[in-house]
Amino acid sequence: MKQRSNWYNAIAHVDADCFFAACELTRRPDLKGKPVCILSSQNACIIAKTYDAKAIGIKTGMPIWDAKKLMPHAHYLSADFRYYGLISDKMFSVLRRYSPEIEMYSIDEGFIDMNGIRSMWGKSYQGIADHIRESIYQEVGITVSVGISTTRILAKIASEMNKPNGTSVIPGRRITNFLREVPIGDVPGIGKSRQQLMKKLNIHTAYDFANNPKERIDFTLGKVGMDIWHELNGTPVFKLELNSPMPKSIARTASLGVVTSNKQLIRSHISYHTTRVATELIRQNLTTSFISVFLRLKSFESVGKNVRITATNDYSRINHIVKVIFNHIFKDNTEYRACGVISSSLQPDAQQGNLFTSVQTSKQLALTKVMDDINTRFGNQTLSPASSLKKETLKVKFQYPLLTAT
Ligand SMILES: [Mg+2]
Repeated sequence: MKQRSNWYNAIAHVDADCFFAACELTRRPDLKGKPVCILSSQNACIIAKTYDAKAIGIKTGMPIWDAKKLMPHAHYLSADFRYYGLISDKMFSVLRRYSPEIEMYSIDEGFIDMNGIRSMWGKSYQGIADHIRESIYQEVGITVSVGISTTRILAKIASEMNKPNGTSVIPGRRITNFLREVPIGDVPGIGKSRQQLMKKLNIHTAYDFANNPKERIDFTLGKVGMDIWHELNGTPVFKLELNSPMPKSIARTASLGVVTSNKQLIRSHISYHTTRVATELIRQNLTTSFISVFLRLKSFESVGKNVRITATNDYSRINHIVKVIFNHIFKDNTEYRACGVISSSLQPDAQQGNLFTSVQTSKQLALTKVMDDINTRFGNQTLSPASSLKKETLKVKFQYPLLTAT
């Protein structure tokens, strides 16, 4: 690997620790130090959890009954994405003080262009990162982990290294040694199937990957692999997306990991994708009026349907619609390999930022808190918002032709 100087480029990755659970703790301080799991709508499965719940073996996507077997004494709370969106806004407004160049990468992760800001703060990068962590903790009430290095991928790997509430700074000269400690599966973009391929090539660490001839990586992984290769070698490929234009659609799709006909399992994947789509809509202050769900069969053919709705980013509504479409397209005794949820016809959320809505939002928050309190005391589903009980009949409009989503 090429020897680098220390700070020819500086990017920070800031990542909140157990974000959804941490948000809940800001309004439920009585739960601090106790295991907390956040549930998808209809409280079907776990979508986030605290570290102690994780340590017992509770995983994201796990059905609630399995989790309750492992950890009957944990606190199970219904997700409240509107509230998580507010906490996310607070976190990003703190980050904007440090540099004007910020990319909101997800609801709880951002990249910061750090070039030239050491003199402004009179601190080292380590000092600035620690200051960021402290300010977010003081002002927002959650902890974050910070990684600083010379490329996005290196910064993202670094922020994982010292979780929770830690800082990792990897200057150019330390990249080579740092990569030796990073298992290949921890490199963003190397999922399970690529990991297996890497094993065949005798690539076990990020260092093995970065030290392979680039022609070999190009041959096996193509452009994706080359981008990762350059970034691991300290050459920035990905610029920060500072003013991301309004997306045409927000899609969350993935392989099921297995070929299966298990409806419950596929349903839990769909539920997870729905969560992520709804979170992203709220984060970007957007509404959707077109929801699509698709399933990819074992044969790689796809079936899907979509529904036009009045513009919304309300999680329970979107989830309800997704469920209706899913039940419509799912066929028993059929094997599937992938699935996804897509929202399109996106519009800026007109309600956002108007005074009247913020009053409503705080009322809504107070109501949710009361519901949470009662549900925690008497078991979940004792109370749920009336809207989620209302039977909504939907007409599924038309069959999708083959849908290729990324
Ligand atoms: Mg996070």
